[in-house]
Amino acid sequence: MQYALHLRARDLSLLHIHAENCLPLESVALLFGVIEEHLVVVKRIECVRNESDKAATSFYVNPEEEYQLLIDAEARGEELVGIFHSHPAAPMPSSSDLDNMRLNPVVWLIASKTSGAWSSKGFVLDDAAVEIPITIIADVN
Ligand SMILES: [Zn+2]
Repeated sequence: MQYALHLRARDLSLLHIHAENCLPLESVALLFGVIEEHLVVVKRIECVRNESDKAATSFYVNPEEEYQLLIDAEARGEELVGIFHSHPAAPMPSSSDLDNMRLNPVVWLIASKTSGAWSSKGFVLDDAAVEIPITIIADVN
């Protein structure tokens, strides 16, 4: 069965604003929520700093910051369901993304502005990266 991502329109807008604000560097955010069967529901986003020393083409999240966010999420009954980052290029997983997808088997949401406006694509790693459908939710908890 195929995975699908549910994301609030407001959260997607905030992610794209975060991506714009981080230019010319890649932006990063962690997506928290719940997974029901193969439906990945994002309930909360946390924009974080990109601490990579090559932040124009890669990203790195401070492990202590990530750990604290994971602890907070667990207390809310949520889990890390996705990782968002933006690309200077097309919204396809890079070779280093594919390596990191193996280590972090959550939904990878990648934003790009190559078409003029920000848009995002979601991927999960099977044998290769597989694009999954994203449903934008108007205002649901
Ligand atoms: Zn990437």
